[in-house]
Amino acid sequence: AKAQGKDTFCFFTPEMDQETVRKFTMESYLRQALSKDQLSLHYQSIVSASSGDVVGAEALLRWHCPEYGQVPPDQFIPLAEESGLIVTIGDWVLETACLQAAEWMATACVPFKIAVNVSYPQFRDGHIVSTVEKVLKKSGLPAQCLELELTERLLMEDERGCAEALKKLSAMGVQLSIDDFGTGFSALNYLQRFPVNTLKIDRSFVAELDCSKESPALISAIIQMAHALGIEVVGEGVETRQQVNFLTLQTCDYLQGYHFARPVPADQFQLQFSESCYL
Ligand code: C2E
Ligand code: CA
Ligand code: CA
Ligand code: CA
Repeated sequence: AKAQGKDTFCFFTPEMDQETVRKFTMESYLRQALSKDQLSLHYQSIVSASSGDVVGAEALLRWHCPEYGQVPPDQFIPLAEESGLIVTIGDWVLETACLQAAEWMATACVPFKIAVNVSYPQFRDGHIVSTVEKVLKKSGLPAQCLELELTERLLMEDERGCAEALKKLSAMGVQLSIDDFGTGFSALNYLQRFPVNTLKIDRSFVAELDCSKESPALISAIIQMAHALGIEVVGEGVETRQQVNFLTLQTCDYLQGYHFARPVPADQFQLQFSESCYL
């Protein structure tokens, strides 16, 4: 039964395995998550490698499901993408993150950028462009303070469909970044075709810094290539002082990871941020 694709007819038969049943059940719960107020955002600091200042945060979605408890995004985001629920959920994420960032901006003494993960279905029919326009207007957040994190897959899958939306967003001043850089498709020509501002080096490369010979070479090559193209670089999943030192030495622009801060709820982030701000 497991060999069946995700498009198979949807009713339960004895041969359907537990995982499939769990998936359908979870999807029906996810369908109600927004209206039942079970979604929230956590924020993880992004720091400047040169100054150590918090210069922004990545918004990370959290779901507390009454049935399954805290469900990891790696489990429910794919489900939300397959079912199309990610469009409504993504709108909520964008609005919540921008309203929150605008509030922090109002009290902060440093420039601040909010990074929001977006998925391919949000780009259909240019949906995301109208959402971003609406949300920036409502929140008063300057477009330059919003950065959308895209996957390499998104840029390869439907290049034409996304290209127009990405150009419009970029023309508005919205920043675009490539998430998990280095793990997706290996063709790099999309870096020429899309207005990319930032690359985020996947945390698997950073994690292997201390134990593989290739990883330092790859990271240093990625940073040099990005800088040659006028693109800034974030090192993700930074957990140790040695990783900080290496990335800083390689002129990586920004760092993110447990070494600095874990993703935390908004009120906790505000405390961290204002402390780093008024010191
Ligand atoms: P991501 O965009 O690559 O987000 C970074 C993930 O790495 C987060 O996992 C974060 O908690 C984790 N992380 C940060 N620093 C460290 C570190 O030092 N060490 C380790 N081991 N991990 C670290 P999280 O929050 O579980 O999110 C997983 C993925 O779910 C995200 O990966 C992103 O692809 C997706 N996601 C989360 N929120 C959203 C959303 O609002 N929309 C969409 N479309 N996807 C989202
Ligand atoms: Ca991300
Ligand atoms: Ca990432
Ligand atoms: Ca990821």
